[in-house]
Amino acid sequence: MSGQALDRIRIVLVRTSHPGNIGAAARAMKTMGLRQLWLVAPEHFPDPVAAARASGATDILDRAQVVESLGDALQGTVFSLALSARRREWSVPPVGAREAVGQLLPLTRQGEVALVFGHEATGLTNDELALCSQPVMIPTDPAFSSLNLGAAVQLLCYELRMAALAGAPAAEAVPPDNLATFDEIEGFHGHLLQAMTESGFYEPSNPKRLLPRVRRLFGRIRLEREEVNILRGILSALQRKT
Ligand code: SAH
Repeated sequence: MSGQALDRIRIVLVRTSHPGNIGAAARAMKTMGLRQLWLVAPEHFPDPVAAARASGATDILDRAQVVESLGDALQGTVFSLALSARRREWSVPPVGAREAVGQLLPLTRQGEVALVFGHEATGLTNDELALCSQPVMIPTDPAFSSLNLGAAVQLLCYELRMAALAGAPAAEAVPPDNLATFDEIEGFHGHLLQAMTESGFYEPSNPKRLLPRVRRLFGRIRLEREEVNILRGILSALQRKT
């Protein structure tokens, strides 16, 4: 079970500036049995510095998927963790790394999942964070909370391996088997935005905090496919009336 679960986990690095960190991430992954590296708009890749730092994990680099946006990297996933060293006001409250891995691993039974890491200096943007299912903080000394990117990847890959080796999750941790995918949830948010705009409830010229609040509301629950269909059906019916 463990190998299969780890094969379904995407490690996604967003806008990485230093190719050495990409190599370090590949090495960190391979030591822990992970294989899927996704690179969103890397500043330098391929790069000899990445290959040197990978130190034998070059197969991970060779197979890495390079895409333009985080949305591309999350296509088809059923769950994603956003790694952030900072607490953000308008996001779902973060959970610790170990707890997050405990949530994520059982979901590999349903499909692909992702761990998303930000830029070395600026981290993930709020918009990128909002695309993910759950924010995660590595519990550090609050006075010095930012790890090197490669170190953060290593730590999460280690937690994933430990959790996978520990075996099958308890029955109550097994999630429903029909979770909505990233694409379906984004389709719902697009539909909701359209309906809110058409009805005048949302005014783009005066957005206040509506969109982040709505994201946070739906981000607190794991929507199933049927529930997304119901919500979209309600929106369509209301749209036809107006
Ligand atoms: N100054 C940036 C830190 C970037 S470190 C910020 O405030 O977010 C590069 C990446 O490593 C981060 O985007 C995050 O994905 C990961 N990372 C580093 N320290 C972390 C921590 N304590 N908890 C969770 N992720 C962390």
